[in-house]
Amino acid sequence: MSNIVTHAELVRRITEQVARQIGDEVAQPQAAPGGQKPRASYDAQASVRAEAEGRCQIFTYPTADRDLKHGFIPIGVSARHCHVSPSQVEILFGKGAQLTPMKPLKQPGQFAANETVSIIGPRGRVIERVRILGPARNETQVEISLTDCIYLGVDAPVRASGDHHDTPGILIVGPKGHLAVDRGVIRANRHIHLHTTEAATLGLKDQDRVMVKIDGDKPVIFYDVQIRVSEKFSQEIHIDTDDANAVGLEDGAVAQIIFKAEDITVCGCKH
Ligand SMILES: [Zn+2]
Repeated sequence: MSNIVTHAELVRRITEQVARQIGDEVAQPQAAPGGQKPRASYDAQASVRAEAEGRCQIFTYPTADRDLKHGFIPIGVSARHCHVSPSQVEILFGKGAQLTPMKPLKQPGQFAANETVSIIGPRGRVIERVRILGPARNETQVEISLTDCIYLGVDAPVRASGDHHDTPGILIVGPKGHLAVDRGVIRANRHIHLHTTEAATLGLKDQDRVMVKIDGDKPVIFYDVQIRVSEKFSQEIHIDTDDANAVGLEDGAVAQIIFKAEDITVCGCKH
């Protein structure tokens, strides 16, 4: 996409693209083959709700037996989202514009903003209503799932937040302007936020790696989950919508740290 395209022209092209996508969705059959009804709780599914809200929290902590000292932690499903700088907010939403909080996130001070953008990959495909998470940061970061990568034609690597080496760029379009960023598109690694005191409770430290079991229709044990410890954090595991969908995550699901990854030993015998 070249810089000589005006913003008005870009918006026109996106509108056309989105209209086509909506047309495709309408054309798709809604009922499953064999008259099978779609899952009754589909709308309540965490990944779907996360998409609308930027991020959602689905585990009601604490209960008597599911507490931190037993490794249980709340789950936050991260839908695709963007982090942008204050000056980029003005480019996308107009001079003087600032992010406005729609919903607080579990991490203190963080929020899902009312502001959303469209993102466009090299195939010209558009994903609209990508929520911006605030507050504004210094560096642009666009966090998408592998499913989004395939759709957009973007080869985003798995990275910890803030690690942008060898990451692709993308076109970000707001109502008042657009940004062609040349890096910062990632698939966020699975990670757990812990406050310093919570980490101490679990005997974990920053950058440890753990395994986490999550229950659902298809229970999964996730390996190599990064531990991130800060005074500013509050206990929560962050997984993306692909992970949530793999598990079939729904309300009431629990995540439990089962043990430290370094405790796993690979059997060296010849059986
Ligand atoms: Zn996180």
